[in-house]
Amino acid sequence: MFCMHSDIAIIGGGPAGLSAGLYAARGGVSVTLYEELFPGGQIAKTPLVENYPGFPDGVVGYEVGALIQKQAEKFGLKVEYSGATGLVLDGEQKKILLAEREDTATAVILCMGAHARALGIPREEELTGAGISYCATCDGAFFKGQDVAVVGGGDTALSDAIYLARFCTSVTIVHRRDEFRGSPALQKTVKETPNIHLALSCIPLSLKGDKKVEGLEILDQKTAIARVLPVAGVFVAVGIKPQTDLVKDLVALNAGGNIVTDEFMRTGVPGVYAAGDIRNTPLRQVITACADGAIAATSALEYVSSR
Ligand code: NAP
Repeated sequence: MFCMHSDIAIIGGGPAGLSAGLYAARGGVSVTLYEELFPGGQIAKTPLVENYPGFPDGVVGYEVGALIQKQAEKFGLKVEYSGATGLVLDGEQKKILLAEREDTATAVILCMGAHARALGIPREEELTGAGISYCATCDGAFFKGQDVAVVGGGDTALSDAIYLARFCTSVTIVHRRDEFRGSPALQKTVKETPNIHLALSCIPLSLKGDKKVEGLEILDQKTAIARVLPVAGVFVAVGIKPQTDLVKDLVALNAGGNIVTDEFMRTGVPGVYAAGDIRNTPLRQVITACADGAIAATSALEYVSSR
């Protein structure tokens, strides 16, 4: 069985992993990034990123990942399009278990990010792809000229609603509180967009429609009155869950399920670092994920050179 050894292995190819790849490869050691799908992570699903410095007109989320990858590969980053099925993180040689082989590395940077949380209402799974979506950029175009709902009140929900309002007839944001968690800038745009409607203090109860979504039943928590929004699409944007299945028994996690690191991105296991949304970060943005990646790579480079 062919086995590849790298000085540094990076698990996950979102902005944190790609930036770690850029800094580590530029540090002159061998670096392999393992990514099961395509690089970019969650940002690849974000229509427009308006707060990543250097792009005054915003940048399409997918392009952020593609550009960092190109930059990192220029310095020698190797991208392996296979997901790790397991990790062995103790000892001098860490192991990255893949479907058909077992690679090794001296240091490992965990950048598996986070994925969308589900609403948890009946038939949500059954109707996923038939009106339920977790990615407005990926699926929004299917709902052109139709009425849709977005559930959530964070940055994702607000930016998804703004994006969908460009081509959907109407967008109703269903949020469980009266106040949004999302940024004031996005809230202002939401208020100024005439075809975005708000259903505040409302929670989703059930989905209507047989083979595809034809409505979303919501409950107004203040009046205790339920009503059905006649929508063809429901975009779920109720937050993210860290993807720690691979490492939950190998590194320390906090109560929220995020990997605990120090300011050097060290996990407590020698030679193992974590960066981006998967860790105990106070801010989950592209810029902080990139910064985490740079710090983790610098720490990993020091560790590799000390061996
Ligand atoms: P988030 O900030 O955690 O917001 C999740 C929203 O969903 C909250 O409003 C929450 O309500 C609501 N919610 C949670 N569980 C719910 C449930 N079971 N039913 C109904 N509503 C529920 O998640 P996010 O918007 O995905 O953002 C994640 C991170 O990515 C954030 O740090 C965000 O700033 C960042 N992000 C940045 C950009 C950007 O830079 N442009 C774009 C997208 C995301 P409560 O408010 O009541 O808790």
